[in-house]
Amino acid sequence: MADLQGKVALVTGAARGIGYAIADTLAREGASVVLLDLCPEENGLEAANNIAQARGVTAAFRRCDVSNYEAVQETVKAVIKEFGGVDILVNNAGITRDHVLLAMSEQEWDMVLNINLKSMFNTIKACYRNFMKKKAGRIINISSVSGLIGNAAQANYTAAKGGVIALTKTVARELATRGITCNAVAPGAIETPMTASMDQDALKGLLSTVPMGHMGKPEDIAECVAFLAGDKAKYITGEVIRVDGGIGM
Ligand code: NAP
Repeated sequence: MADLQGKVALVTGAARGIGYAIADTLAREGASVVLLDLCPEENGLEAANNIAQARGVTAAFRRCDVSNYEAVQETVKAVIKEFGGVDILVNNAGITRDHVLLAMSEQEWDMVLNINLKSMFNTIKACYRNFMKKKAGRIINISSVSGLIGNAAQANYTAAKGGVIALTKTVARELATRGITCNAVAPGAIETPMTASMDQDALKGLLSTVPMGHMGKPEDIAECVAFLAGDKAKYITGEVIRVDGGIGM
């Protein structure tokens, strides 16, 4: 029997890549899903419709810039009202703007920190009272193995992803007595539009560091998230699970 029937999941950056696979997998487990993304409206609606049709659940799309505090508060409030609450929050939206630190602009630093880290403050804050009232909930934040071990030319991204891990542990501590868990998943190199747009030499270099010798699929991350979202993971909190073919060991 599906583990997540009757649950409502909010997934950011869910129109494509890892976020889409997460929303689709949570829907497969019976959850109603709300996809939050900044993509064009038609792409988001298409993604939600595909999930609804394939999985037979309610799937909705809301266009929202997760780095915009006010927009997130407004959008999440409306979702909570419409769906009767949020049970699972997956913070997945993220971007890269890679340069060695000397060549990195202040704008690239700010943009990556705002979209990859501040966004999680925005969404968690917007869902906090909802989780407290329910005395239940799952928060799953997508970090990166590079937030654990660092990566040249990614000062902005690794700082944000390391910050995600610290934020995860703090939120886990704040909410633990209420039965609400907060965990992070740290992907390695995963086949998505994000990695497809990488410099091919850099990608080859990255692959040479993967003990398993190949990239992962979005579904590899999604299955881990679905486990953390389910009842079987109820005693796991403040944890960081690497899904990386061994890069970070
Ligand atoms: P992706 O293919 O680029 O997808 C990211 C999604 O997030 C896109 O749909 C994008 O929408 C959306 N997004 C970007 N900025 C947003 C904003 N301000 N507000 C709302 N949505 C926004 O990336 P991915 O590879 O699936 O990555 C997903 C997550 O996994 C990210 O946090 C990433 O850092 C992490 N990760 C990925 C890898 C990897 O190898 N792929 C490795 C480690 C960690 P637009 O259409 O607007 O761009």
